[in-house]
Amino acid sequence: MYAVEVEGLSVSYFETTALEQLSARFTMGQLVGIIGPNGAGKSTFIKAIMGLIPSEATTITLLGLSTKEARTRVAYVPQRSAIDWDFPIRVLDAVLIGCYPKLGLFKRPRKQHRQLAMSCLERVGMQDYANRQIGELSGGQQQRVFLARALAQEAELLLLDEPFVGVDAGSERVIIDLLRTLRDEGKTIVVVHHDLSKAADYFDTLLLLNRRMIAVGSPTDVLQAKTIEGAYGNPLAFLQKVEVSS
Ligand code: ADP
Ligand code: MG
Repeated sequence: MYAVEVEGLSVSYFETTALEQLSARFTMGQLVGIIGPNGAGKSTFIKAIMGLIPSEATTITLLGLSTKEARTRVAYVPQRSAIDWDFPIRVLDAVLIGCYPKLGLFKRPRKQHRQLAMSCLERVGMQDYANRQIGELSGGQQQRVFLARALAQEAELLLLDEPFVGVDAGSERVIIDLLRTLRDEGKTIVVVHHDLSKAADYFDTLLLLNRRMIAVGSPTDVLQAKTIEGAYGNPLAFLQKVEVSS
C-alpha cells in the first residue's frame, strides 16, 4: 500500500493546464519533497489529491483509500498566502480545530481535547503562546501552530504547502526536526518546497514537477543537472544555490 498513489492526474483552470497526466507514488513512512519552479503546479497537486479542486485522474488514493474516506486521517496545511492571518482566533483554539474530526463539529471540546492540544503546542515549543491571537505571532510561530493543529488531528499523512516560507531559521529547525521525528514514528509527510538548496538534506524522496512529472526518486537521482534543467531551464542557477548553502 502507498501513502499516496496518483495516476494520470490532470488539472485545468479555465485555459491554464496546471497539471497534465501526472503519475507518482510515495511509499509510507517517508519525508517527501515536492519541488519545481513557481507556477509548476505544486499547490495544485496537493489540492487535487485532497479533493479541494476538480481534477481528472485514473487513480488517486491516500493511505490506500479514496480522498473522501481518508479525509480524517490526512492533515493539510495550506501555503501561507492562502491563510487569513487576521482572523481573530486564539492559538489554543486554532489547534483545537485539529480535534474536530474526533469531536464532531458542534460538540464542545472537553478537558482531554484541551490537554491534547496543549501537548501538541509543547511539541512545537509554543505552549507559552496558547492564549495569544494567531495574528500577533511571527511567521515561524504561526507555522508551528498550524503544525500543532496537524498533530492534534493525529493524522497518518501530512501535506504541508511551503511550510518554510516566511519562517525564521530557528523555527525552520524546530519544524524539520519535528517532521523527521514524525517520519521516524511511521507517518508520511509530503512537503511542497521551492528551495532546492536544502532539498537533498531534508527529504528521502523528491518529486520534481513542472506541469508534468519531470523526475521522482531519491534526491541524488532527482537532483541531476539534466533533470533540473528540464524543470527550471537553467541548471547553473541550481548549482550556484547549492554551493552557497554548503
Ligand atoms: P505552484 O504552487 O507550483 O507555484 P500552482 O499550483 O499554484 O503552482 O499553480 C499552477 C498554475 O496554475 C499556475 O500557472 C497558476 O497561475 C495557475 N493557477 C493556480 N491557481 C489558479 C486559479 N485558482 N485560477 C486560475 N489559475 C490558477
Ligand atoms: Mg504553491
